[in-house]
Amino acid sequence: MAPPKEPRNPDWSEDEIILALDAYLSAKPKDLQKASPEVAELSALLRQRFRQMGIQGQDTLRNIAGVYMKLQNLKAHDPDYLARGKRGLAAGNRLEQRVWEQFGTHPAELHAHSHQLRAFIAAKVQVGDVEDDVQVIDGALASEGRLLVRVHKTYERSKSNRNRKIQQFQAQHEGRVFCECCGFDFERTYGERGHGFIECHHAVPLSRLAPTQKLSLRDLRLLCANCHRMIHIAQPWLSIETLAAGMKLPRSR
Ligand SMILES: [Zn+2]
Ligand SMILES: [Zn+2]
Repeated sequence: MAPPKEPRNPDWSEDEIILALDAYLSAKPKDLQKASPEVAELSALLRQRFRQMGIQGQDTLRNIAGVYMKLQNLKAHDPDYLARGKRGLAAGNRLEQRVWEQFGTHPAELHAHSHQLRAFIAAKVQVGDVEDDVQVIDGALASEGRLLVRVHKTYERSKSNRNRKIQQFQAQHEGRVFCECCGFDFERTYGERGHGFIECHHAVPLSRLAPTQKLSLRDLRLLCANCHRMIHIAQPWLSIETLAAGMKLPRSR
């Protein structure tokens, strides 16, 4: 009888491709080789992340050869490389294409994003189970990547952050709680049932945080469910002020 097949290694995620493209562009014009320390470092980082997520994978999971191969695939999209009449190994997949399109001409932005991802991995940041939202706010994925969206959502959802933020807000607004964008007050509309009902939103995209900056209660804003959704659907995320400025109906507050 044939031995049971080992589970296939997971496909590269957007976050991983972001980290790989950052390594690729940071090394340019040098071409990373299989023996380059950068390749070994990236492989170790990605394997560490899988261990954190409890994913065993095969021995080949993001090993040096696999990471090197991915870098070669990324090269297939590099305009400089193609301009020399070269062809990449393969046509490359769509996710690679998308990450290239978004960041290829914005290496500083890519680097900041990658830096943030690395910091969260190093901090072994635990993220909640927000899979549903990650799908719902799919538009945000391309701008923030999966891990950052999850960290964002986990921070916003944290009960203690929420309670502290609401208390601060109430103290400044005669005990009321309402959407900072449209003014919607759940209690005014739904009565007692809506008391204290509101969502929190971290207004600074995590990829824009400076390296030393941390997620902060100061950057939490209170939003109704509709406004929160609208902000996350746009790409890149809208500021509350931009969303408010474009509203057709007057604020209800
Ligand atoms: Zn609102
Ligand atoms: Zn949010």
